[in-house]
Amino acid sequence: MLNLKKIRADFPILSRKVNGKPLVYFDNAATSQTPQQVIDVIVDYYSNYNANIHRGVHTLSQEATDKYEAARQTIQAHFNAKHAYEIILTAGTTESINLVASGFASILQKGDEIIVSALEHHSNIVPWQMLCEKTGAILKVIPMNLEGELEMDSYTQLLSNKTKLVFVNHISNALGTINPIETIIEQAHNVGAAVLIDGAQACPHIKPDVQALDVDFYVTSAHKICGPTGVGMLYGKQEWLEKLPPYQGGGEMIDQVSFEKTTYAGLPHKFEAGTPNISGGIAFGAALDYMNAIGFDNISEYENELLKYGTKELLKIEDLKIYGTSKNKTSVISFNIKGIHPYDIGTLLDKMGIAVRTGHHCAQPIMTFYNIPGTVRASFAFYNTKEEIDVLVNGVKKAKMMLS
Ligand SMILES: *Cc1c(COP(=O)(O)O)cnc(C)c1O
Repeated sequence: MLNLKKIRADFPILSRKVNGKPLVYFDNAATSQTPQQVIDVIVDYYSNYNANIHRGVHTLSQEATDKYEAARQTIQAHFNAKHAYEIILTAGTTESINLVASGFASILQKGDEIIVSALEHHSNIVPWQMLCEKTGAILKVIPMNLEGELEMDSYTQLLSNKTKLVFVNHISNALGTINPIETIIEQAHNVGAAVLIDGAQACPHIKPDVQALDVDFYVTSAHKICGPTGVGMLYGKQEWLEKLPPYQGGGEMIDQVSFEKTTYAGLPHKFEAGTPNISGGIAFGAALDYMNAIGFDNISEYENELLKYGTKELLKIEDLKIYGTSKNKTSVISFNIKGIHPYDIGTLLDKMGIAVRTGHHCAQPIMTFYNIPGTVRASFAFYNTKEEIDVLVNGVKKAKMMLS
């Protein structure tokens, strides 16, 4: 059981008002809110030991380096990576994906195949299209069904010895579907393909074990897990990270530099050129500590309750349709009301202090599949309550009355 009162008190933003109404924050799939414990870590860095890392011999630099590397170890432990140097700190999911895509440009050959899924975020489609243009590789797409699940039989058929890389999100940000990544990884490995999993939407709800999954690359952003924006990670198996060339040139990623030849630093520094988001990396570790103290089993159990309750109550509204009805889903409800544009509902809800996302959720192919312009998406986090869902349901009823 979660102590909701205590948890909510950790998030200063949850007590503010929006348009004169208490904030109901249901846009957690876009970014989560930040607890005071994590805010304090950022303030502490700038107040007490702001310095560049891995460079200076002075005390502040050593303190900052120690805290940054300790955060890397926290992240390693959380995801159960074998080595801390398999955790590359990046600007977030998008950068992590681009890092891998750019590395594969020197590995792929004309005619090789990359498989992605129909459920992807744009940040997971565009880099692969760019990679295919550069290398002559071919992009294949795992289709989806009306429930918003991947067609696994089609996936099996797409796989062949031409498949070099499979890229799927762990959980769809637009629909909340949890994809069967264990099977996806195992079948890809059977044909010798590497697998990259986008965990940006999964990590707020579950604790992935990269060794148990035997996944080659796993990426996520801190800002959806109670951490700050602009920082995230790439987990890669050591053998893959050694195979991939550096992503960016610059300070911190080199071993020896001369104008004749430069040799690169070892992992993880080979992929960490330039001064990173130091306070962000440290706060990323603090955010994982915060969530682990609550416990991911408790979090997902409670969020499932919210999902069930929200689904039941919203479906009582006539002409309301939910998109993404897999039995395997997290606390995301994407919906529309017949004859009303999602944007109009979102705008009226905002007037009532309710924050939801409207639009295509960076997943236009999914909207095209359902033949809709977009949806209203309410996404719940562990600090939300059933009372807030009641406020949403009443708000949607009111909006429907005003708009029809
Ligand atoms: C949010 C999200 C991304 C992009 O994350 P950034 O932090 O913006 O880089 C990618 N994939 C999924 C599934 C997401 O939910």
